[in-house]
Amino acid sequence: MAEHPTAEPDSGHAGLDELSDPAASPWYTVDRQDCLCELSGDWDARLAEGGGAAACRGARILGRPLREFIAGDSTRMYLDAALEATRLTGQPRRLPYRCDTPTLARRMQMCLQPLADGRVRVTHQLLAQQPLPRPLACHAAASAPEPARLRCSLCLRLRTPEGHWLDPVTAAPDVASLAVHYTLCPDCGGRHPGGPHRR
Ligand SMILES: [Zn+2]
Repeated sequence: MAEHPTAEPDSGHAGLDELSDPAASPWYTVDRQDCLCELSGDWDARLAEGGGAAACRGARILGRPLREFIAGDSTRMYLDAALEATRLTGQPRRLPYRCDTPTLARRMQMCLQPLADGRVRVTHQLLAQQPLPRPLACHAAASAPEPARLRCSLCLRLRTPEGHWLDPVTAAPDVASLAVHYTLCPDCGGRHPGGPHRR
């Protein structure tokens, strides 16, 4: 998920087999108010491996609301609903999403596990990855005057000027870094996370 706090390392630092093991995947726990209250023990080490932003180190994110790290109102509402559904049903759920690096397409899933006292543990598991046909870096548009494309936070597709949602590499102009506004495409937005849980 775009702009999500993650300590997932980039390719070349850890084997896919290792990353595919949920027990080896980084996780965080949110409390009943959706504030980050616990991180996997290797969080900072994994963050450093992957070249993650220093702003996402454990000491700087613990205690803060999860929503501070999620770009786009639609995406925040989607995750709010997923967390609340996990608490209300007491059932784990798995939400697929895509989280690319500038050179890799990565298929991932977010596993939400209900815990005591309204806490929920969120694990980010890498399922598959493959090189992108060409590098593509995106950044959240800083301000209104910056021209930006709409991008889905869950599948990463880009909206074309004609209103179609296409694979990011297919749809993106050949630029070093593309400014985007994060939202949900109709397909992803239509899959309500509060629906029946998936195992
Ligand atoms: Zn989508």
